[in-house]
Amino acid sequence: SAAMAESVAVFPPPDVDTDDCLHEYCHLFSPEILAGQVAFITGGGSGIGFRIAEIFMRHGCQTVIASRNLQRVLEASKKLVAATGQQCLPLSIDVRQPQTIVAAVDEALKEFKRIDILVNNAAGNFLCPASALSFNAFKTVIDIDTMGTFNTSKVLFEKYFRDHGGVIVNITATLSYRGQALQVHAGAAKAAIDAMTRHLAVEWGPNKIRVNSLAPGPIAGTEGYRRLGGKFAENTSQFATIPLQRAGNKTEIAHSTLYLASPLSSYVTGTTLVVDGGSWLTSANNFPALLDFWAAGANTN
Ligand code: NAP
Repeated sequence: SAAMAESVAVFPPPDVDTDDCLHEYCHLFSPEILAGQVAFITGGGSGIGFRIAEIFMRHGCQTVIASRNLQRVLEASKKLVAATGQQCLPLSIDVRQPQTIVAAVDEALKEFKRIDILVNNAAGNFLCPASALSFNAFKTVIDIDTMGTFNTSKVLFEKYFRDHGGVIVNITATLSYRGQALQVHAGAAKAAIDAMTRHLAVEWGPNKIRVNSLAPGPIAGTEGYRRLGGKFAENTSQFATIPLQRAGNKTEIAHSTLYLASPLSSYVTGTTLVVDGGSWLTSANNFPALLDFWAAGANTN
């Protein structure tokens, strides 16, 4: 009834928790908004990256999904093509090794003749207190997240964006905003990417390249959520402390990424869009409780 009407503007769109395509999809943006464009998505074979690829393809985009595990991106691309009818090229890269990115971008350009959008989504993360973190573990996360984002952005710039313009969306996190416990490695890595977003927006703006970050909060149906305490938060009813009272889903992140990648955000560059239901403002950052959770074996699965 009218008296009970609620704003639809806070309702999550339907999603599925596995790395499969959506069973139903209702377009909110124009279905043509990315028509004829090509997006290069690192880590596009799973989780948030997979859903970004799907939503882009549902809006007329062709995609390249690239990560280390070729089998994973191959299977993902089959699902994406079947669900959307768009082309998807699966390629193997390690974002820590620039020559693998160069080879993949060359192959993508050979296939599609253009790349309009880069989504730097590949990352590695785990919970670990700083006191137990090895020197190498810290370095590995910086290598994949921070170096990987720089390496991929630089290759795309040199191979295509410098002369044709383009859009870069860096997937970061809110971890550093309040010094999230057990996350010094990922928080530092993502904060450096947010800085990179501003530096590159300044230097590459004249080349008609927009660069923005998107910082997700807790997103259900992801490896991050499964391994980094999403269940823990659910069980301890911590979602009650999030302003929007729930976790986000992958489609919500994909929709915000679509906004940043599309002409809807044509004057937006050098900024970070936080997509977290207000979570970082209010959620607990309880070091002792997280340390107990970690000691109980959260780090072993
Ligand atoms: P995910 O499924 O584990 O995605 C990470 C992807 O990165 C995988 O597809 C992985 O594929 C790829 N990858 C890892 N190392 C790589 C490397 N060296 N070179 C190339 N690709 C590599 O996790 P997700 O939860 O969807 O996370 C996606 C992004 O969202 C990440 O940037 C993450 O930090 C961010 N985020 C997630 C959440 C959340 O709640 N899930 C919250 C905040 C931020 P391969 O193993 O095949 O390489």
